[in-house]
Amino acid sequence: MSMDLNDYTIIKEGEAEILMHAKNEVFFNKTQVNNRDMSIAVLRTFISKRKQEHEALLSKRNKKNGSSSDVEDKPNDCDINIEKSNDQGLEEKPNEDPCTASEEPVKIEGKVRGKLKPPRVLEALSASGLRALRYAREVEGIGQVVALDNDKGAVEACQRNIKFNGSVACSKVESHLADARVYMLTHPKEFDVVDLDPYGSPSVFLDSAVQSVVDGGMLMCTATDMAVLCGGNGEVCYSKYGSYPLRGKYCHEMALRILLACIESHANRYKRYIVPVLSVQMDFYVRVFVRVYTSASAMKNTPLKLSYVYQCIGCDSFHLQPIGRTVSKNTSVRYLPGFAPVVPQECSDCGKKFNMGGPIWSAPIHDQDWVTSILADVKSMKNCYPAYERISAVLTTISEDIKFLELM
Ligand SMILES: [Zn+2]
Repeated sequence: MSMDLNDYTIIKEGEAEILMHAKNEVFFNKTQVNNRDMSIAVLRTFISKRKQEHEALLSKRNKKNGSSSDVEDKPNDCDINIEKSNDQGLEEKPNEDPCTASEEPVKIEGKVRGKLKPPRVLEALSASGLRALRYAREVEGIGQVVALDNDKGAVEACQRNIKFNGSVACSKVESHLADARVYMLTHPKEFDVVDLDPYGSPSVFLDSAVQSVVDGGMLMCTATDMAVLCGGNGEVCYSKYGSYPLRGKYCHEMALRILLACIESHANRYKRYIVPVLSVQMDFYVRVFVRVYTSASAMKNTPLKLSYVYQCIGCDSFHLQPIGRTVSKNTSVRYLPGFAPVVPQECSDCGKKFNMGGPIWSAPIHDQDWVTSILADVKSMKNCYPAYERISAVLTTISEDIKFLELM
């Protein structure tokens, strides 16, 4: 390396180390360790669930056909990436740490039947690359991590940090100077995980992000503009997210539900829909983890998952106004607009009028099975999470909160 290491401070988080130029400390946000730890935990669970789902699919197919021949007929499904050891003259650190991803290349044993490719991850707004490096170094079974940034200085820092992190980072992480929107639009359905972690609102990235995720893949999305999502400027929230926020006791949950409704609406434009697995409010932001699927028929259910909210201006009473409903007749289902209004002109508790907010995502915001798995994984790898106390507390609260839909 040509640079002088004396100009830099080394910052270590998890298994990743980044070089921080004294002038560039803006790149490192220490409180974001909670966010990165939570994302790593979800990513680990995603990889194991994805594997289970793939195996279930294979065994279903095999049963159907009485053999696995259909799988062998598709060599493209069977390719596996061989991890190249791409040591660029950097010293490799001895590593027996359980938190570190294995460096062993994947072996091809004769015929690989329907072997899953390691998941590809896009970190769309990567700055120094710390998150991408942690993914690559800590998450077992991860494939390539593509780190984008639209700032030349950030990309240079990211490339420097990739080299500094040694062979695993060099072989798995690549950094590009790009506008994330353009990159995602030109890489449709290419990434198993797309991670959006902007400063502020993610709204301008959502349209391209929902298109870049493979079917069954995951979109991770942060919004830090809590003042907007919590009703400080309702009209700004409406312009960014297409939903009116309400100030109230549940405003953080409403922020999550507005973000989910917004992602769903972008997904719907491409015959896709989302299934939330985990939605958290931490520190000064909200972050949602959703699977993305394509299905024109499943998409018809979207209006059933969205509601307006009537909030009494005089008391705590609120009511959900679903956007759609279904009528079943024999085997057919008809989709119809919701019955309205669900409230009278005046609140029956206090006689005051209602404000109307939304539409919000009124379906479940977590998958309890996922939450249980993520929490179990976090507990079993306690020492691998610098923010263990915080993220396990958040997950425990969510896992105990079975009645979350009744909260609002
Ligand atoms: Zn009232």
